[in-house]
Amino acid sequence: EEVARLYESSGSGLSGLRTDEAHSARMYDFLLDGKDNYPPDQEAAQKAIAAFPTLRVAARENRAFLGRAVRHVVRETGIRQFLDIGSGLPTAQNVHQVAQQHDPEARVVYVDNDPIVLAHGHALLSSDARTTVINADIRDPQAITEHPETRSLIDFTQPVAVLAVAIFHFISDEEDPAGIIARIREHLVPGSVLILSHATAEISPETALGVQTAYRAQGVPLTLRDRAEFAEMFAGCELIEPGIQVVSDWRATVPEADRPTHAEVSWYGGVGRLL
Ligand code: SAH
Repeated sequence: EEVARLYESSGSGLSGLRTDEAHSARMYDFLLDGKDNYPPDQEAAQKAIAAFPTLRVAARENRAFLGRAVRHVVRETGIRQFLDIGSGLPTAQNVHQVAQQHDPEARVVYVDNDPIVLAHGHALLSSDARTTVINADIRDPQAITEHPETRSLIDFTQPVAVLAVAIFHFISDEEDPAGIIARIREHLVPGSVLILSHATAEISPETALGVQTAYRAQGVPLTLRDRAEFAEMFAGCELIEPGIQVVSDWRATVPEADRPTHAEVSWYGGVGRLL
């Protein structure tokens, strides 16, 4: 209700909220047992789960990868500014929480094109001057890098960590994920890092393609990609060890025997450092 009120009270861009159709942010929220989802999101996600029974495990592993990657970057690279594109609804271990645990001075700009993310983000972050959330689309990178709120928190003369975690599978081949990354990179100095993850049908084609079909049937374009296509997104970067992995394996903190199988996760992740 508070969110509905926020939408109504704002004249800027929040009118785009549609709760009568499924949306990727709220489907993902449902997969993570969040509360900010509606019946169309739940139904669409259930259909995807029917095709790929471990989808919730996979979403949790993706989220855990994001946390480990941010922790690694903040500890090992000295980077203190984060641009999290396709940030999703606030959940456990949000980027600013992970980064500021290590250094309270860390700054984070969250970016998402779902207005519900903006509304919840404002509610969560209103008291935090080092963190903000903006409504923008990754397909228009300049709108992100030129945004006044981005400019107020991020100094592009210094290295930045850009996250595009679990977003490029919502960008079609025609929309050119690698080209989008290239345009973001124009704003970044060497030593900046890219944290990326992407769902794949390479490991378990039949079940994973069922997810793609289920999402598309609900009007959410999903394009799964293989390791080679994912690796292209790191062009001009050196991969931080251990390179591209299934997300559950990337600097895992639990023994292999306690991790889900690659087929159950079917999601690649990696962190690259710009040369
Ligand atoms: N990065 C988070 C959330 C992933 S869910 C995580 O990995 O845990 C994918 C998010 O990308 C959703 O919140 C969705 O609204 C957002 N998204 C999808 N397409 C987008 C676009 N074109 N521009 C910006 N955000 C987008």
